[in-house]
Amino acid sequence: MNNQTLLNRSLKSVWHPCTQMKQHETYPLIPIARGDGVWLYDADGKRYLDTVSSWWVNLFGHNNPRIKDAIKQQLDTLEHIMLAGFTHEPVVELSEKLAKLTGLGHAFYGSDGASATEIALKMSFHYWRNTDKPNKTKFISLQNSYHGETLGALSVTDVAIFKDTYAPLLMQSAQMPSPDFRLAEAGEDAEAFALRCAQALENHVAAHHADLAAFIIEPLIQCAAGMGMYHPTYLRRVREICNEYEVHLIADEIAVGFGRTGTMFACEQANITPDFICLSKGITGGYLPLSAVLTTDKVYQAFYDNSTVRGFLHSHSYTGNPLACSAALATLAIFETDNVLQSNQEKSKLIQAKMQVLTDLPIKHLRTPGVQNTGMIFAFDVDTQNAQFAKQCYQVAVSHELLLRPIGNTVYWMPPYTISEDEIDFMVNTTHQVISSIL
Ligand SMILES: *Cc1c(COP(=O)(O)O)cnc(C)c1O
Repeated sequence: MNNQTLLNRSLKSVWHPCTQMKQHETYPLIPIARGDGVWLYDADGKRYLDTVSSWWVNLFGHNNPRIKDAIKQQLDTLEHIMLAGFTHEPVVELSEKLAKLTGLGHAFYGSDGASATEIALKMSFHYWRNTDKPNKTKFISLQNSYHGETLGALSVTDVAIFKDTYAPLLMQSAQMPSPDFRLAEAGEDAEAFALRCAQALENHVAAHHADLAAFIIEPLIQCAAGMGMYHPTYLRRVREICNEYEVHLIADEIAVGFGRTGTMFACEQANITPDFICLSKGITGGYLPLSAVLTTDKVYQAFYDNSTVRGFLHSHSYTGNPLACSAALATLAIFETDNVLQSNQEKSKLIQAKMQVLTDLPIKHLRTPGVQNTGMIFAFDVDTQNAQFAKQCYQVAVSHELLLRPIGNTVYWMPPYTISEDEIDFMVNTTHQVISSIL
């Protein structure tokens, strides 16, 4: 089937996510037929370098033989069984491995990132109820935060375009000043700014802790805010403040987990353990939907009781799906056998060096993740008055075989870790060419 036929059928039958459908009159859909490594191919054989890892989920390339084989093998054994009353080897093995990696345990599964956010918020609220602090019902998050689109997750999200329409349906939550270093005063260093933001957080928590269940935060990088990066000192102070005032710390590592910031999890760079960690996106290498929330023994024990309703009675039909768990196990096996974090360090440094060619463009805040470490998220803000910059950049990039999806004026790369040096050159140089052509 050719591209044109497929995209017309899609426009008639599919309601695409995060999209004003009418805009597809001007900006055509791209029908993808297959993927291989960092490349996506359309039905006419045209290719696109996937610099956004298919919305931040892919880690080891499309058509990855190891993940593919693991799913195939699981498919011959057990495709699915409900997890209430039943268990299976992939979910047990994955839970043990995630516990070892996070220092938390009792993995509770969902299907998407937003469902993980919902699970963590409900668990925190329910914990305080089970421990005779029923007034602790409120949540706080960061200014410009993103935690997903379902009503609970949207309540702690702070992106006006996604949130304002639904305001009457949402829980009240307060937003704390973001430590994103782009918001610092001129001349203020990232660490001093982080400490100033932490002080504002402490002032709020000191006044409101009796009502607060949890603070939910994206550790080190607010990705949806345009790759807003901040100093790990902020997380260290957050952990201390949450401990002092008995407020849970929920780390939403949905986007930054699994090596994106240079360490397996971003919290490691501040040497902290949250009370809850939310994982999804890269967890299956981008193969199947899966999310997980892990928590402390203390939280788990507060639910362990003769009373049914003191238990966590939340569920999703596909909780702990064996195929998704097998993809996650194959993904973790690649981390173990291929020294991924170490080879990413080299690759990250290489990309950072090559990125310098962009500095002849009118750009600000050239950034790479982590202060001590190097990860696999790269971003910069383009100084332009062109209100259509993001859309035009996307369109022109596509015509140059590059999938770039700027967030406002922020151009970023979050490529699969398997990207080669030639592909990096193509990504950097084509990005340079695309931006130059639309300033
Ligand atoms: C993508 C994302 C989510 C939501 O995950 P979905 O799978 O899209 O529901 C939540 N938090 C963060 C930090 C994310 O980047």
